[in-house]
Amino acid sequence: MADCIFCKIIAGEIPSSKVYEDEHVLAFLDISQVTPGHTLVIPKEHYRTILDMNAESASHLFAKVPEIANKIMRATGAKGMNIMNNTEEIAGQSVFHTHVHLAPRYSTDDDLNISFVAHEPDFEKLADLAAKIARA
Ligand code: 5GP
Ligand code: ZN
Repeated sequence: MADCIFCKIIAGEIPSSKVYEDEHVLAFLDISQVTPGHTLVIPKEHYRTILDMNAESASHLFAKVPEIANKIMRATGAKGMNIMNNTEEIAGQSVFHTHVHLAPRYSTDDDLNISFVAHEPDFEKLADLAAKIARA
């Protein structure tokens, strides 16, 4: 896609620090390095968000995540990793060529801060919502 920065990286028009490449997938270091080794895994085909992918294209992308994640773990000595996808602006997506973030973790007070606010469970609401999602 003409104006897509990640398509330009795939085409070699913009330099990147590649860590893995095959027919379907490219992985390269995120320029922002939220933690050392922060890597993006992208499909070579342009999909705006993960919602636009089908089972086949998604399987090519996600099939490579464990292998690339393990390479990062071995190379960096990280103790864990956050594996994330941001879908749409509200969820933090800023580049609209879908990608998976692999962010190695070294300590709980590094520069990546993810917090889930837990709510008291309302089991009736949970059942209704689950049924609604299952039907959709
Ligand atoms: P998002 O916010 O869409 O989930 O993540 C986009 C990521 O792409 C950001 O973490 C940002 O640092 C990274 N990024 C944006 N432009 C470039 C670039 O030109 N090269 C590389 N390597 N990463 C980029
Ligand atoms: Zn693209």
